[in-house]
Amino acid sequence: SSGGNVRVVVRVRGFLPREIERGAVNLIEMNPRNQSTTLYPPPLDSTRGNARKVMDKKVFTFDNSFWSFSRDDDHYADQDDVYNALGEEFLDHNFEGYHTCIVAYGQTGAGKSYSMMGTPEHPGLIPRTCRDLFERIESNNSPSVNYSVRVSYFEVYNEHVRDLLVPRRDPPYYLKVRESPTEGPYIKDLTEVPVRGIAEVLKWMKMGDNSRTVASTKMNDTSSRSHAVFTLVLKQIHHDIDTDETTERVARIRLVDLAGSERANSTGATGARLREGSNINKSLTTLGRVIAALADEPPQKRGGRKKEVVPYRDSVSSPQLTVPHHSAKLILPSQILTWLLKDSLGGNSKTAMIACISPSDYDETLSTLRYADQAKRIRTRAVVNQDHLS
Ligand code: ADP
Ligand code: MG
Repeated sequence: SSGGNVRVVVRVRGFLPREIERGAVNLIEMNPRNQSTTLYPPPLDSTRGNARKVMDKKVFTFDNSFWSFSRDDDHYADQDDVYNALGEEFLDHNFEGYHTCIVAYGQTGAGKSYSMMGTPEHPGLIPRTCRDLFERIESNNSPSVNYSVRVSYFEVYNEHVRDLLVPRRDPPYYLKVRESPTEGPYIKDLTEVPVRGIAEVLKWMKMGDNSRTVASTKMNDTSSRSHAVFTLVLKQIHHDIDTDETTERVARIRLVDLAGSERANSTGATGARLREGSNINKSLTTLGRVIAALADEPPQKRGGRKKEVVPYRDSVSSPQLTVPHHSAKLILPSQILTWLLKDSLGGNSKTAMIACISPSDYDETLSTLRYADQAKRIRTRAVVNQDHLS
């Protein structure tokens, strides 16, 4: 078993056209030598006459501070740099048999989808991980190892789980999350397709991406108000010719693009959009409590013990529906996000969080950085997932 802290990195993007139009000022500075991120208070004239107390700059240190503000700078970090600093090492761990998870967090428009999915010209962590995975499999000539890869892709939208690898239905069809006493939490009937090469996995990735629920808000009209979870499962069957022993290693690669973390009122949303926003906020508030509780808990307190006093176990004391033939408990919609991060943040996974920030939103950026700062203290207990088959 390998204990370790959640890896926390932060990434700042450059100005968007609308920010240049309003004469936005960059409030972020990053020091490549010690990986610190500094947030400066906004200039006083941007407070529109409101009395505002003089604020100090805030300095945070992370595992990486990725400066993606201006390509002209020496320490500019492009998609390749982010993959090399994070994705590549996590894929090493997957081949060793560890589960991994990379979660992007931050306000709408801060660069979560750009970092995870990217664009056709600048692919992000998800397509790069897929490509590297198959390159490694194809370059392995050892006849004693057999690889198989499966992919699934779902979103949590308004607290419901939707399978992104099946055609959309009207009305939408939602999947149930259950927790089995032996297998832990899982999504019932989620499509998991076997993929044999990079072309196949990219085809499913694009299909799923196109079927994500998108809604327009004033803040970013292409932004998605959903959490998207892309998962690869790598299975390696190793047959040792000398000992005639067969072992199987299974590693889950989970890549999560969370919905925007901003408060509902800052996007000018009303009606259904507002309701949606408050559902998202409810989840993130719970996530905040999960982070806060896990951050201050010594890792040994989270051994195999059944009784654990962290909020993500709220579900245990909530009303549960028991499925007679299965003995799996239904996880209530309001707990889906915390379930999602439960394994990854507090359990058997090597986990990283990418805190995405925009360069000129003081309040949202401060809240994202504080979240991230707290997440640094969370420890996980990743184990190699290996079975002897014979
Ligand atoms: P989010 O998913 O957090 O709502 P996006 O990833 O959609 O935000 O980013 C908002 C906009 O900013 C998009 O047009 C995206 O292409 C651009 N963008 C974000 N991060 C970067 C970056 N590091 N470099 C260049 N463009 C970026
Ligand atoms: Mg997005």
